[in-house]
Amino acid sequence: MNIIFLGAPGSGKGTQAAMLAKKLEIMPISTGEILRKEVVLQSDVGKSAQSYMNSGKLVPDEVVISIIKKQLTGSDCHNGFILDGFPRNVDQAKELDKMLSLIGKRIDTVFYFEVSEEILVKRIAGRFFCKSCGAVYNNYFKLPKVKNICDECQSDNFESRADDNEVTVSNRLKIYREVTVPLIEYYKKNNLLLSVDAIKSAALVFEELAEVVCKSYKHN
Ligand code: AMP
Repeated sequence: MNIIFLGAPGSGKGTQAAMLAKKLEIMPISTGEILRKEVVLQSDVGKSAQSYMNSGKLVPDEVVISIIKKQLTGSDCHNGFILDGFPRNVDQAKELDKMLSLIGKRIDTVFYFEVSEEILVKRIAGRFFCKSCGAVYNNYFKLPKVKNICDECQSDNFESRADDNEVTVSNRLKIYREVTVPLIEYYKKNNLLLSVDAIKSAALVFEELAEVVCKSYKHN
């Protein structure tokens, strides 16, 4: 099964991609995650992407397209994949269509994560992680049960993403509205779009996704 998760930053795509990919035993591919690793490594890709990412801008298409090309042709994607954060504009979507047809694959479903902007801002600006195990917390919605101690691994080492702050949030949402939202129409026209009410808790969103995916498995 080949899936795209489409939605604004903070809509919960990353969390759901990891959970659903595990359940379906397919590959989660997050361009944001791959780019953040390249930045930590200070590779050529990382160095060139860093300033775009820190200011909330999109990294040039050719950089992310070559990342995706490498991922999709790898053996890890044999069973299928979930694309999280790609495509981000119509040009990237067209490139993806070309790439997939060359390797004899197609997208089965595009899940569109719907959340109001007011919630998105709090989800992004309040988001932080446990540095040891990656558990995700939020200053507005989900603090650790014991102050400054991770619920999962008891570490007291937390961090936030460099681009998760009030300054870049509005820029990221503006870019989302301008260049990513047109993808909703693009995939609607192709009869691939399914909306998900992503305001609900992560557990409820996951239940909904898993139900839809399992039903469509049975139909195929
Ligand atoms: P994300 O983790 O998806 O929020 O992505 C974090 C940042 O990585 C974005 O703000 C962009 O700077 C960059 N990025 C991730 N995916 C893409 C993409 N498909 N096209 C361009 N830039 C991207």
